[in-house]
Amino acid sequence: MNSETVEKNNELSQISPDYVRISMAAAIELGLKPGRISCCSCDCINLLQNYPQGCYANCTYCGLARERPGIAEDNSFIRVDWPLFPTDLVAEKIGELERKKEVGRVCVAQVQDHRANNDLVDMISRVHHRAPEVPISALVTATLLNDEWLVKIKEAGADIIGVGLDAASEELFYSTRGKGTKGPHDWKKHWKIIRKAREMYGPMKVNCHLIVGLGESDRDLVEMFYLLKSEEIAAYLFSFNPEPGTIMENTPRTPITRTRRIQLVKNLIEEHELPESSIEFDKSGTIRMIAAPRKILKLVTENGMAFMTDGCPDRQGKMACNRPYGSYRPGEEFRDYPFLPDASDLKIISKEMKLAEIVKSNESALV
Ligand code: SF4
Ligand code: SF4
Repeated sequence: MNSETVEKNNELSQISPDYVRISMAAAIELGLKPGRISCCSCDCINLLQNYPQGCYANCTYCGLARERPGIAEDNSFIRVDWPLFPTDLVAEKIGELERKKEVGRVCVAQVQDHRANNDLVDMISRVHHRAPEVPISALVTATLLNDEWLVKIKEAGADIIGVGLDAASEELFYSTRGKGTKGPHDWKKHWKIIRKAREMYGPMKVNCHLIVGLGESDRDLVEMFYLLKSEEIAAYLFSFNPEPGTIMENTPRTPITRTRRIQLVKNLIEEHELPESSIEFDKSGTIRMIAAPRKILKLVTENGMAFMTDGCPDRQGKMACNRPYGSYRPGEEFRDYPFLPDASDLKIISKEMKLAEIVKSNESALV
């Protein structure tokens, strides 16, 4: 047997809850892989369940999906970026790191599998047992859950629930994650779990992942930002990056100008109370004009926070989950910055955003 076959066989037998995939940045941070993360520190240890089939859902953009072409052949997402380790070893290393310096957060992500609920609770418990002070997020598959499981996840030690809503509208959800792609996910079920989790875990202790570039309009995203804000649920942006071997592998990425404008408008809504009436859309739902006071725009574009990665916080409330290389490859332009952009980054951002084309500055639009 050559080493690749051995590795493949290991991956089939080394499954959760005893084994776990961890992001390469986290593996380096824990000393399980050699190397260095050049751009920033990795403050969140992201873990992912591992089963031989990947995931039984069928999301059109995901490298773990059931019907992705090239299944079990070569999958760069899980092979290279997310190495596999024994869960107890990872939990041990998290405990060790916490004794040296504070670990910002751990996140355990579920996939769609009949074992995934029990295993999620088991895996969170193992980490919590070895590092009781470290805050833990559960990135759940809403389709599998009910009220009882949400309680068990909390009791195991998680303080935040993340839900991969991903698609910003019901129609898009149907075609990329639901029945439209022979997937198990349902928009209404997702919202039931999101709202139940919000009730149980508290304000801003639940978040929805939203992917920019799956086919949604700017209006879909903007409406979602207002809705989530009104319910005190966090919106965390991700950027579509075509995964080889998936149904959407040939779909182009969203233009960087659009990404920047979405990041800007999200920040204006969340942090500066931009009223809905201040955003105008064209017929296709693309932002045509934003009316905002000059001084607020200057503040947002010059401090750079709006363009950073969105993610769960550490114990002090500072963003911990910065996912270096989560939505771009090393060497590519940043979609979201895993650190506060400096003056030269801000120059690039400003050029990309082309704000003058869509801004109507006034002094009264914001409260
Ligand atoms: S449920 Fe999550 S892991 Fe499974 S295919 Fe969809 S996006 Fe991928
Ligand atoms: S933002 Fe990061 S830590 Fe929070 S649920 Fe999502 S992946 Fe997990």
